[in-house]
Amino acid sequence: MRTEIPGPRSLELQARKQAAVSAGVGTTLPVYVERAGGGIVVDVDGNQLIDFGAGIAVVSVGNAAPRVVANVQQQVADFTHTCFMVTPYEEYVAVCEQLNELTPGTHAKRSALFNSGAEAIENAVKIARSYTGRPAIVAFDHAYHGRTNLTMALTAKNMPYKHRFGPFANEIYRVPMAYPYRWPTGPDNCADEAFELFVSSVHAQVGEENCAAVLIEPIQGEGGFIVPAPGFLARVAEWCATHGIVFIADEIQTGFCRTGDWFACDAEGVVPDLITTAKGIAGGLPLAGVTGRAEIMDSIHGGGLGGTYGGNPVACAAALGAIETMRAEDLNAKAKHIESVMRPRLAALADKYEAVGDVRGRGAMLAVELVEPGGKDPNPALTAAVAKACHQDGLIALTAGTYGNVLRFLPPLVIVEGLLREGLDILDAAFARSA
Ligand SMILES: *Cc1c(COP(=O)(O)O)cnc(C)c1O
Repeated sequence: MRTEIPGPRSLELQARKQAAVSAGVGTTLPVYVERAGGGIVVDVDGNQLIDFGAGIAVVSVGNAAPRVVANVQQQVADFTHTCFMVTPYEEYVAVCEQLNELTPGTHAKRSALFNSGAEAIENAVKIARSYTGRPAIVAFDHAYHGRTNLTMALTAKNMPYKHRFGPFANEIYRVPMAYPYRWPTGPDNCADEAFELFVSSVHAQVGEENCAAVLIEPIQGEGGFIVPAPGFLARVAEWCATHGIVFIADEIQTGFCRTGDWFACDAEGVVPDLITTAKGIAGGLPLAGVTGRAEIMDSIHGGGLGGTYGGNPVACAAALGAIETMRAEDLNAKAKHIESVMRPRLAALADKYEAVGDVRGRGAMLAVELVEPGGKDPNPALTAAVAKACHQDGLIALTAGTYGNVLRFLPPLVIVEGLLREGLDILDAAFARSA
């Protein structure tokens, strides 16, 4: 660190931001970035921050990853846009081939590309409704699916995502999540009881025959890295299959090696009917996809899916470079290694501080949930204080959780071990100062 955070040049830029950018667009840490790579973010004052956020699980391959940069540079020089719906190009098809190959299941698949995660979710819902001819979508407590009108309705948390932005889309129904740490009768009963509650709620309040899709994050992201009780996902998927309901896995945050598998569903052998991807897919360029069973994806009338920029050639070239990097550098193994380094350190924090109620996640998607000592009341004040102390010492740490009481860690998968350990030392010191 060369200056206090934020430094003088960042403060100048922040003043310009306040004068030019809507106050509705917040910033977690107002240090302005000059360049980034390899798990380090360098700001305009020359400070070097260790990155445990990866732009919210986007730059899993690292910032400015060499294969992404090379592909993008070549592609912008060749052509930047034609619109795939007007005159198509190979890169779009190649990304769909990769998605069809890498997502869970060996059945015939098709994909379609979009610009953002929310847009992928919107399209997955369109596809499921059209295929089934049914209206209702079931989503879960603590879910996050985006900020557009339909995806706000699917997202659980009011502040800041939904507050004053209604009315929301209808035919969305919410059911409890199999959240082991907060399950009333304890984690051991969670999978069974949550599944029974899910089945009885959908049956009584929606009706199976009205239900187009069940939409779930296989590990919840913004909701607080909640890993559903083992077996819950598989039972929900199986139940959907028996009722002709489309099971949609939102793998926008968990996908592309983040959890130590290509997709989080892989760890439980769950095969979704549709799967949404974005974030980690393209090394930082905006790209999203819906991949699913060929008979579902091909049931849509011609021209029913698309968008001006969906599957932009530059973003597709970036995705091909990112996926090649994931394969060549075995980023699944890297994610598992990150977990092997981080988890013991987080467990040690839980031993030392009563406020650390739970340590959870998978691969390089790990979190601690902070509570009031002696119980399980959420402790968002301590969470914010620890995050701030991390920032002051040069560690980009993010918070999450419906109650704002989760510290989540999403380092780029290419981070070197020394930096990872240095980041964890900063986290230790932040707890020592704040807890
Ligand atoms: C980020 C996220 C989204 C929304 O993606 P955007 O690209 O921000 O629209 C949807 N679902 C999950 C699980 C996410 O993490």
